[in-house]
Amino acid sequence: MALANENYLKTPEIYCFDEIEKRVNAYKILHPSSKIIRLGVGDVTRPLPNEVVQAMHKAIDEMSRAETFRGYSPPKGYDFLIDKILKDYRSLGVMLDKETIFVNDGAKSDIGNIGHILGRDNIIAIADPVYPVYENATIMSGRAGMINDDQKWSNVVYLRCTAETDFIPELPTEKVDVIYLCNPNNPTGTVLNKTELKRWVDYAIEHQSIIVYDGAYQAYVNEANVPRSIYEIKGAKKVAIEIRTYSKTAGFTGLRCGYTIFPQELMVYTKLGDEVPLIKLWNRRITNYTNGVSYVVQRAAEAIYSRNGKNETQDLVEYYMTNASLIRNELQSLGFEVYGGISSPYIWFKTPDNQSSWKFFHQLLYENHVIGTPGIVFGNSGDGYMRFTGFSSREDTIEALNRIRKGFINTKEY
Ligand code: PLP
Repeated sequence: MALANENYLKTPEIYCFDEIEKRVNAYKILHPSSKIIRLGVGDVTRPLPNEVVQAMHKAIDEMSRAETFRGYSPPKGYDFLIDKILKDYRSLGVMLDKETIFVNDGAKSDIGNIGHILGRDNIIAIADPVYPVYENATIMSGRAGMINDDQKWSNVVYLRCTAETDFIPELPTEKVDVIYLCNPNNPTGTVLNKTELKRWVDYAIEHQSIIVYDGAYQAYVNEANVPRSIYEIKGAKKVAIEIRTYSKTAGFTGLRCGYTIFPQELMVYTKLGDEVPLIKLWNRRITNYTNGVSYVVQRAAEAIYSRNGKNETQDLVEYYMTNASLIRNELQSLGFEVYGGISSPYIWFKTPDNQSSWKFFHQLLYENHVIGTPGIVFGNSGDGYMRFTGFSSREDTIEALNRIRKGFINTKEY
């Protein structure tokens, strides 16, 4: 009899974003002709940069000729892309060793897979609210323990991240082994500045912990005191892996490409206390479990670093950030308590009259035909909040804000 990995049964059957779709579909059946606007969407909507498209055409042509055909990629990625990544880090003053870069098919895979090379008994720390995959991956890997009445897992340390902390995660008061940090944070759009991030690095050095630093939104950082990479902080190479993706930087959500850095200095420990470089374990994992990312996609990623590619991706980021500013300003002028939207495409705001996230979600949907993401899907502390994003089109963003403003003026109760 084949046994199931029952840890998988402990995560919700429906992924949180599918629950939103379920409710939207129910609304659509009742209101088939209404034009819904999605302001909650975490996916990008603008087409790929032209430079990227041209690079893919060229790469596909190469694949069609015997002389230039490519088979398996090197498991860690092609040098032509890794060299560009190295140069990009150098522009931040961060020197990385070529061997430490691992090209992947997007950030989500590595966020989940990192658990495979870490001991089962590690205590994991996760901000609440945060990107739900950190908690789900912890549950599925069997590290979360038992679920308590307050819907929190017994072996997970939840880092307070509330209005009292300005939605900046608080350092743990106890010893934890693995910390997931998302900076800029999804969903709150808030950021840890260099001084704040230094405290996390110092904590990790002191406790021999590691930080899984998710920099999915680093391209949106607009403030000089906010780091784009955790390696801008002294000592970080000893304690942090950094995961990045082209998804939100250059519209790669459908293409799939990113990379993770495993510094040589980063050690984990055996039960006997012997040091093991984490990169050594990751090398074994990827050489056994993956066959790399496609040549065409890696050429597409390389194109982002050309002069035109940089300009086009910068335009994309600015487009979404203009939407984010419009949302932030409008919500603020209507009197909402608003976070994020400055170095992040995410805007996080308090629901009116302390409504639950789902109640306000339905109000927005049924009265304004606008979809936001209920804060509760990102953790219990997210209840009573809503996430909007700058990822819709400009027209839809403006239209959604008009509808919300009109609703606000009519009811005077938002
Ligand atoms: N990390 C965060 C914080 C995200 O918000 C997302 C996607 O929304 C991801 C990772 C996943 O990115 P990718 O498309 O590279 O898998």
